[in-house]
Amino acid sequence: MGRFDGRVAVITGAARGIGFGTAQRFASEGASVAILDLDEASAADAAGRLELADGAKAVGIGADVSDKASVDAAVERVVTELGGIHVLVNNAGVTRDNLLHKMTEADWDIVMGVHLKGAFLMTQAAQRHFTEQKYGKVVCLSSVSALGNRGQANYSAAKMGVQGFVRTLGIELGRFGINVNAVAPGFIATEMTDATAARVKMSVEDFRAAAAEHNPVKRVGFPEDIAAAVAFLASDEASYITGQTLYVDGGSTLV
Ligand code: NAP
Repeated sequence: MGRFDGRVAVITGAARGIGFGTAQRFASEGASVAILDLDEASAADAAGRLELADGAKAVGIGADVSDKASVDAAVERVVTELGGIHVLVNNAGVTRDNLLHKMTEADWDIVMGVHLKGAFLMTQAAQRHFTEQKYGKVVCLSSVSALGNRGQANYSAAKMGVQGFVRTLGIELGRFGINVNAVAPGFIATEMTDATAARVKMSVEDFRAAAAEHNPVKRVGFPEDIAAAVAFLASDEASYITGQTLYVDGGSTLV
């Protein structure tokens, strides 16, 4: 028996990184899984790599979470192809880092569009089904950067916005059997952080080693660390938890 037997989980931005690790976790616990990502071929390839439980299905869908028509069509496809929707993980993300005086309007808009508008549109499309069936779990990806990080005014504002978003939806949706929470990762080894290493002209190894020194557990995180926390918050064991943000950061925000 898996915790997500018979459930359908949708994870955005799941062709790679934290999203793919989370998709694998849901699959390993019995869920049918929809992988949404910008590029349909990458999403389908990732879906094909999932190890599914007997009777479970996976689908890869190309969708832009910041576009309402794309989101609505994707959620309807999930319901048609996988037979329902029970868990939504708003994971898709981008960074456009720069100091304020160099940050462009486009840098601001894309980060707000993917993280905040994307979470809004996806959750709104899913909640129509969740309220009808009086059951739904939403987990959004925030970040330790919500607390402030040089060069990330756009990303930090969006990730703190996510925390306000889940608190408000916790209040609005609890009575419909819907839990809404966030996970705020610290440094996780993915292509996103590898790209940051390249931008600051460090090798991936040196960048990760430096990040590991910045937290009490003295290692970087991996997608599996975040997947475990997301799966817990999306499980029925966490049905008395809503509106919360769980920091999964090796204690980096303690020091
Ligand atoms: P990642 O490796 O860059 O993966 C992000 C995925 O999101 C990519 O596949 C990307 O597709 C997709 N995506 C981007 N824009 C999209 C859109 N408009 N619609 C649909 N999909 C879109 O990132 P990650 O490191 O796994 O991060 C996942 C989440 O965790 C993000 O929300 C991030 O902000 C958050 N987070 C990460 C860290 C970390 O240290 N890695 C720390 C804190 C929080 P393309 O490849 O086509 O762009």
